[in-house]
Parts: sequence; structure tokens; C-alpha cells
Amino acid sequence: MTNPTKPPKIIALDGPAASGKSTVGSRVAEALDYLFFDTGVMYRAVTWAALQNGIDILDEAAVAKLTEETPIDVRAASQNDGRACDVLINSTDITWQCRSPEVDANVSTVAAYRGVRAALSQQQRRIGQRGRIVMVGRDIGT
Ligand code: C5P
Repeated sequence: MTNPTKPPKIIALDGPAASGKSTVGSRVAEALDYLFFDTGVMYRAVTWAALQNGIDILDEAAVAKLTEETPIDVRAASQNDGRACDVLINSTDITWQCRSPEVDANVSTVAAYRGVRAALSQQQRRIGQRGRIVMVGRDIGT
């Protein structure tokens, strides 16, 4: 049973787009001094990596393989430049690169791929294991 005086190690908030989960999640994270982790950044990171590597975004198998081979990390913000967290691939900070218009235009295609979702779920679990984290995203509860 959950101890009412002690917050859980991991808080997961899911729901459709524009349901307010990011607003609620970031406030909860701030109040508890937890990492706020919007899982959309992982789909963005993979999309960025695919574009960087010249992988055809429409090649589902190639994008899924890249996802399996690319360790993505999300950590507490190391800079006070408006970021909610740091997004890293192989220790390279891509926090702002993964917000580019090119990523915006391709990320929903990547996020629809089953193999990408499965590989990122594993990575989300790994990051969640560290605890003190509020994870937000469509289907993150599962
Ligand atoms: O929220 P944001 O725009 O950063 O999300 C990037 C993309 O990842 C969107 O297409 C969103 O639908 C998708 N996404 C997803 N599952 C999640 C989080 C985001 O498919 N858990």
C-alpha cells in the first residue's frame, strides 16, 4: 500500500494531446523536486538521429533498428536556458536540436512505428528506475 506521507518514486501521467498532462506534470515535478520527463522528447531524439544519419523516415525497419541501437538519456536540466531537462544521445546534448522544424515535421511518423515504441518503452523503464521522476506521455502508464 502506498504511504500517504511519502510520494512514489515514479509518477506516470498519460492522456491524449492537450489534456493538460504536461502542465500538471511539470507542476507536480517542481513541487516534489523531481525530474519532469515528457516522453515525447525521446521520439524527437530518435527522429533527430534518423535525420542526422540520413535514414529514410518512411523506412520503418531502419528507424526501429536505429532506436534499438541508440541510447537516449534524459537528465535534470544542466543549463538555465528554458529547458525542462537535458536530452542526450551518446552523451551529446541534443535538447534544442530535437525541437527543430525538421524534427517537428517527421516525429509523428516515427512515433507511430511499433518497433520504435517498444524500444523506447524499454529505455523509459531504464530511466524511470532512477526514481524521483514524473513521466508524462501518451500510454506512459503501460
Ligand atoms: O509532445 P511532443 O510534441 O514533444 O511529442 C512528439 C511526438 O511524440 C508527437 O507526435 C506525440 O504524439 C508523440 N508521442 C507519443 N507517445 C508518447 C509521447 C509523445 O507518440 N508517449
